[in-house]
Amino acid sequence: MGLTAQRILYIPFDHLHRNYGALKGANPKTDVIAFVESARMTTGRPWHKERLFFLISSARHFAQSLRDEGFTVEYVKAATTIDGLKEISKRHKNAPITCAEPSSFTQYQQLKSHGLTFIDNDFFLTPRALFTQWADEQKSFLMENFYRKQRIRLNILMDGTKPTGGAWNFDKDNRLPPPKKYVGPAYLEHQRDEIDIEVATELGHTPTTTWSTTREGALKQLKNFITNHFDEFGPLEDAMTTENWALHHSLLSPYLNNGLLHPTEIIHAAMKEFNKGTIPIESAEGFIRQLIGWREYVNGMYWFLGPDYRDNNQLHATRKLMPLFSDPNATQMNCIKSTVTDIQDRAWVHHIPRLMLLSNLALITGTNPQEFLDWMREVFIDATEWVMVPNVIGMGVHADGGAMMTKPYAAGGAYISRMSNYCKPCAYDPKLRTGETACPFTTLYWDFLDRHKETFAKNHRMSQTLFGLKRLSDLPELKVRAKEVLTGLEQGKI
Ligand SMILES: Cc1cc2nc3c(=O)[nH]c(=O)nc-3n(C[C@H](O)[C@H](O)[C@H](O)COP(=O)(O)OP(=O)(O)OC[C@H]3O[C@@H](n4cnc5c(N)ncnc54)[C@H](O)[C@@H]3O)c2cc1C
Ligand code: SF4
Repeated sequence: MGLTAQRILYIPFDHLHRNYGALKGANPKTDVIAFVESARMTTGRPWHKERLFFLISSARHFAQSLRDEGFTVEYVKAATTIDGLKEISKRHKNAPITCAEPSSFTQYQQLKSHGLTFIDNDFFLTPRALFTQWADEQKSFLMENFYRKQRIRLNILMDGTKPTGGAWNFDKDNRLPPPKKYVGPAYLEHQRDEIDIEVATELGHTPTTTWSTTREGALKQLKNFITNHFDEFGPLEDAMTTENWALHHSLLSPYLNNGLLHPTEIIHAAMKEFNKGTIPIESAEGFIRQLIGWREYVNGMYWFLGPDYRDNNQLHATRKLMPLFSDPNATQMNCIKSTVTDIQDRAWVHHIPRLMLLSNLALITGTNPQEFLDWMREVFIDATEWVMVPNVIGMGVHADGGAMMTKPYAAGGAYISRMSNYCKPCAYDPKLRTGETACPFTTLYWDFLDRHKETFAKNHRMSQTLFGLKRLSDLPELKVRAKEVLTGLEQGKI
């Protein structure tokens, strides 16, 4: 080995960008680049194989691109990250190890205890200290308030001091149900190369062609979104259809979260297209809100709320994870069967199935939040601790008692029926709340409200809903059906 390292730059598998994090300003003549594929990461939990394949193959491709650039790259497999770093250190005379601030509390503590030096994590647009400053000033942490500040601070979609298009938010235009017999543009397919085949063989996995594992492929995915999907993104953002699994969602979250793309690059591409005048404001604003609003807000809240936040269970939900989450044949609910099958196929569904199907079901069945969170972390291609914890604990299952969201995202079958084509062929009827063919969502929605009516009594945003509950004449019958449904779900029969 010719190089005497002055620094070892440790690159976690979610910092894969040449121009950000520890690699910004890296020098092949003085810096050794370290990657560790830890057994804890690969075999520590029953991860979806597509997810493992994506993360490992992306890291190996990225490591190769650095070797091609002339860097000395140490890519080691070890029991834990720290074991791997120790091995690399030994080979390089214990040169100091630098890393961009890690993305989770656990990794932060582990690396800090091992003596790593951190530089700022610039994989986000909002420094952690700036978010804390905003959050400290808030009475309630409304995403919309944060988002408006971001628009002004980053000067995106602004005409001077006014929001472009005359409003901050075009959400009301973005709630269309799916059109009938919907045919969208063809999906982009990514070809597999030697590194992919090597990783797939090690994992015993046949990968999809849905996710790229290279920077070039991630850029192609961005271009595909901007050219073929961006204009229609907004109005169909919340729709779900068995005829088109992605509709016009960008499919960019995996690359954003492992670093192959930086949010600035996506925003730049989106704004360039919008400025040509071809993109309706409701699509442009809807997409920008996800990126500079939701994504930044969720990351900010993760750090602001602290490491204990993930253990919240303020609705005292104790049910064990039901079999339908791991086996789509363990349910007759068409919406859940389809969604879990989609997840098994490609480790992804968009935000409405995550929120209004999976989380909603966990919420109204009283499923233990941490068991549900663990499952969500294991099966999604884009799942990382910082993004899953607030989305599940705060937004999805209201386990934080409303610290993040003012009311729970609970819904019955009527919402699902309106926003999807799942209900027509289903064994259940979304309009019915009692009887054998009642939709489990509809029955359990009212049962959930009844079980928690005292908890929500003082929440003025829930008063109309609770008023509706009081007027239900068939509540006793509904409670009986709810018990049957819960037992049936546990047995995999409903
Ligand atoms: C319960 C629940 C769990 C979720 N878990 C994850 C997760 O583990 N990883 C993840 O990246 N996203 C998560 N999301 C957010 C969202 O569902 C995904 O980002 C999105 O479906 C990814 O697909 P896309 O890239 O096509 O997104 P698009 O719809 O095209 O949106 C563009 C981008 O906006 C960002 N974004 C949008 N909403 C959110 C949000 N709520 N939180 C953070 N970023 C957001 C993502 O980076 C996304 O790529 C979750 C949402 C919910 C409700
Ligand atoms: S009827 Fe109920 S269970 Fe069936 S698809 Fe519709 S919402 Fe899902």
